[in-house]
Amino acid sequence: MTADGEQKVEDVFTIQESDCCGNGCTNCILDNKPRPSQRALLAGKRNIILKYTSFRLLQRQTHTGDDQVLFLHFGNAAESDDEDDCVLDIPPGHHIMLRIGFLLRPYSPYWTDFASKEFKILVKLQPDGPMSQHLAAVQPNDRLEFRGPIGNYRHDPAVTKCIYIIAQGVAVAPTLPLVGQVLENEDDMSRLWHLVCAPDLQHVYFRDQLLEFAKYWNYRSCLYVPRQQCGSDACLKAGHCRQECDELRRSLRYKERVCLHRLDANELKQHATPAIPGLRVLIIAGDSGFQRTMGEAAAKALGVAQENVYLL
Ligand SMILES: Cc1cc2nc3c(=O)[nH]c(=O)nc-3n(C[C@H](O)[C@H](O)[C@H](O)COP(=O)(O)OP(=O)(O)OC[C@H]3O[C@@H](n4cnc5c(N)ncnc54)[C@H](O)[C@@H]3O)c2cc1C
Repeated sequence: MTADGEQKVEDVFTIQESDCCGNGCTNCILDNKPRPSQRALLAGKRNIILKYTSFRLLQRQTHTGDDQVLFLHFGNAAESDDEDDCVLDIPPGHHIMLRIGFLLRPYSPYWTDFASKEFKILVKLQPDGPMSQHLAAVQPNDRLEFRGPIGNYRHDPAVTKCIYIIAQGVAVAPTLPLVGQVLENEDDMSRLWHLVCAPDLQHVYFRDQLLEFAKYWNYRSCLYVPRQQCGSDACLKAGHCRQECDELRRSLRYKERVCLHRLDANELKQHATPAIPGLRVLIIAGDSGFQRTMGEAAAKALGVAQENVYLL
């Protein structure tokens, strides 16, 4: 309340310097302030996450074989019917800000539910990272505050495109909704190339989901796992599995394509598809070093104009 008793309405669209996490994100909140959600407006509802909102941890799971990687599932913490007029809209390619005290860090949901106001993130804990320490300790029913959505990616299904998505490690997570958005729309004639970089197969997250995508005519993927290593003498000598390795073949699923070297400029050229019509779009998901090196090399090799390159 103000001094004269008027209800002070918080402007959810006002962004201040202190809203930035200070990590130099490509899509900083100061340049990409959360906007009203068209989907929410159409539904006659309010997007609950436009201002910091408390979400309850519903489920926490560690990745098999790596306890530093967590799958976290959050739901809106409101227990009353007060927020029946709300939905949760985090469009594909957008991230949200987690706030604990003065500490801010961005995270990119890989699954969201509009009506139930739930979302999931995949988190890689960084040694000695301040937010990682909080997230390592977080338990079901704990409440954390998030705000967003932040980003500039827009997809128009009416424009047919060749979309190249290059993802590194856990950053494959936010690329799943981008792929889903195209494949789930039968009228969308865009084609997708999903190039996933990880040290080895154990660190390729969402392999099942990628195989589900592979059932669609307009989706292709390739996994780049240069440090895949079995215990055979020949592969130990080579320093990594060889393309003809039997153990590697056995660990692959139907239609899974794997390359045992890094994704470099020459390899990127193999994915160029000049004969296929459509606007070229490139999406790079990874840390800032990966975005920089891969962004330049891939845009050149795949013939993508700079204005159609998106860094998540
Ligand atoms: C737009 C955006 C979206 C993000 N989405 C996710 C996400 O969905 N899941 C997730 O786990 N993280 C994500 N991150 C990274 C996340 O925001 C934090 O940086 C991370 O959780 C570590 O936070 P921290 O406070 O523990 O450590 P920090 O103080 O942030 O970092 C500790 C050390 O780890 C390094 N580091 C931080 N992040 C990475 C990384 N991704 N790869 C390699 N080194 C890194 C830092 O350079 C630093 O040296 C995202 C970052 C951005 C910019």
